Amino acid sequence: MEITYPFAKVFTDSTNKLNVFFLHDSQHITFEQIGDIGTGIVDFCEFDFSELQEKIKALETVEVTNANFDDMKKVYWNTVDLLKEKHSYIHFFLNGDLLRNFYNADRSEYDKASYANFLFQCYINLQAAYAEALEFCLSNEILPEYTLPERYVMFCNLYPGFTQHTLRSMYGIAPVANGRFDTSKLISFNDPDEVDTRKVLQNIHRDSEHSVSMWQYFAIQSLEEMFYLEFMEMIKRGIRIKRCGLCDRYFVLADKRKRDYCDRIYEVKRTCKQIGAKQKFNQSVEQDSFLQEFQRIYNRMYSRYYRMDAWDSDRQTNKLTEDEFKAWADVASKARQEYKRGKISGEEMLARVRLD
Ligand SMILES: [Zn+2]
Repeated sequence: MEITYPFAKVFTDSTNKLNVFFLHDSQHITFEQIGDIGTGIVDFCEFDFSELQEKIKALETVEVTNANFDDMKKVYWNTVDLLKEKHSYIHFFLNGDLLRNFYNADRSEYDKASYANFLFQCYINLQAAYAEALEFCLSNEILPEYTLPERYVMFCNLYPGFTQHTLRSMYGIAPVANGRFDTSKLISFNDPDEVDTRKVLQNIHRDSEHSVSMWQYFAIQSLEEMFYLEFMEMIKRGIRIKRCGLCDRYFVLADKRKRDYCDRIYEVKRTCKQIGAKQKFNQSVEQDSFLQEFQRIYNRMYSRYYRMDAWDSDRQTNKLTEDEFKAWADVASKARQEYKRGKISGEEMLARVRLD
């Protein structure tokens, strides 16, 4: 499939950042180093889409006419704009999807409206799929008896479609030296005629280990492609995730340092890390016997649902159905959240999750 604007060129290097050129159109390019790897996908999975979902749901019942189509479009654009400052790249790709849809001359207005609804449903599905993939393959607390390669292979066995993803890869000259992208050598210009190409090339190649500083990059056009790339880089590098001891949301363990809390804002201007460290008097979440017991129960249910005792066997033999597990996990995660926020006691949390 042909690549159309807007799209992104993503270079990976030896650092834990993604080097991304956002090509908004043929004239406008912005560059950003996005990190730490994994944060983009984890933040998406922890994002609360309910406000957006309600807006879109309200549209689904509206009959599309010439008179109201422009108003409908406005709702979609406004909905996407809600994400603008909240995530490093979601807005860029959603915006691109909407542009390609609304400016598609082959689609009727009715088709455009239903395709826009379809897109939003895809994002919601994508969120559920990656939340599951992250927990299964990279969570620190789940499936501790298996290695990361085993967990990845088990996940692919459960969802064979996951291994069918393809990404488009291309080559381009880029300032990479000693395995790192050198941002100081990036040039910005308003008029390409003013660029001294010879000088630019000399500068780029000065520290390069290659005859031509040629690097492979990924041409990414959709959110799904971007998530797949970021997820695979997490898997490749073994980047783990952990639940925050205070807000209970997942965060990325960017390095080997021991961390219990995330950097998200918990209360006015104060992060979980700032508050959590004080509240628990530096007592580690791992030392909390209620949470330890909770995790033991959770892992037992998790293994029953995924049939870890026979992971290569037929999925039909699950002792817990998907609905049963999801309903239980929902109750469990609410109980854990309330406990961490100090709203219920440890006994109360465990009472809610015990089946017997
Ligand atoms: Zn937190």
